[in-house]
Amino acid sequence: MNEQPAYRADLRIDVDAIRHNVAVLSGSARESGARTMVVVKSDGYGHGAMTVARAALESGADALGVAAIDEALRLREAGITAPVLCWLYAHGDDFAPAVAADVELSASSVDCLERIAAAARRVGRTARVHLKIDTGLHRNGCPEDEWPDLVSAAVRAQADGDVRVVAVWSHLACADEVGHPSIDRQAARFQRAYERARAAGLDPIRHLANSAAVLTRPDLHFEMVRPGIAVYGLDPVPQHGDHGLRPAMTFRSSVTMTKRVEPGESVSYGQTWTAERAANLALVPVGYADGVPRTLSGRLEVWLAGKRRPVVGRVCMDQIVVHCGDDVVREGEEVVLFGPGDRGEPTAAEWADELGTIHYEVVTGMYRPRVTRTA
Ligand code: PLP
Repeated sequence: MNEQPAYRADLRIDVDAIRHNVAVLSGSARESGARTMVVVKSDGYGHGAMTVARAALESGADALGVAAIDEALRLREAGITAPVLCWLYAHGDDFAPAVAADVELSASSVDCLERIAAAARRVGRTARVHLKIDTGLHRNGCPEDEWPDLVSAAVRAQADGDVRVVAVWSHLACADEVGHPSIDRQAARFQRAYERARAAGLDPIRHLANSAAVLTRPDLHFEMVRPGIAVYGLDPVPQHGDHGLRPAMTFRSSVTMTKRVEPGESVSYGQTWTAERAANLALVPVGYADGVPRTLSGRLEVWLAGKRRPVVGRVCMDQIVVHCGDDVVREGEEVVLFGPGDRGEPTAAEWADELGTIHYEVVTGMYRPRVTRTA
């Protein structure tokens, strides 16, 4: 018997899995003498930033990282007092609320640093700043030729008491391609930038490693690591071996109606699938509005009543139809669209492969207005 209530479209977040993954990652960091900043941007990669933040801080994380100032302030409003770093701004963002809330801020240019310093003066606090060097990703981060000016500006702002330089940091372009030559090239540039900051009298920590580098490059753990995707149990480097991560998100629904289809009858818009033999069908009330990609029509499978079963016909906005052969399934029975995979159900990584994308995009895009999330 299925003891679960019937779900329409629900993301079940396995908080124990998140705790386990954080313990694995922070344990590995600790072996290198490094602390762990867990990345909870984009609502914890779709898993719920507060839920993940709390679980992570209970399980070995020392700090949290987010992209946007609003994300950082929401963590503070939820009562989280651990260090929070924020690194990507919209043009003209006001830094004062972040400084007032003791949110640590990344600076990639002299102009940005000066605006942070001005905000700190306005709120009467010292801003904690991480100087970001662009070591080859060429997104945000200070270009190498502007680094000496940024370091000089930081030394001045620190002497004035407006900022305290906490860290030098950067981000890797190809950490998930184990052995990619750019990794060492970026690490060498990173080290040069760090030494320049130290030579100027700053005393920062270093952080460079995302999940892939945490798992494959302990020599790049430095004083802090910054894992995101692996916290959620999705392995960015499965080719490197089994890292013992547990996927935390299960996308589930339930059967809302069953019916029988006769040979020659078709299912769903466009009549793209026609029954060759009579079969039982299960109607499941999730569709592309709930994150089931319509492009997977004809290729989607779900886990229902102990087996993988194909979805037949097109994925609609609100519903899909599962082919059950001669099996009789019950209304209300749980349907798993993806999960950890340990029962044989599809996984987010499989969806990503089918969609030609990465599991990051699958999980981050799942939480939508009609989708509930339970932890
Ligand atoms: N650091 C920065 C600056 C990021 O943007 C991200 C995510 O993209 C991470 C760390 C975490 O990366 P990953 O999810 O690959 O571990």
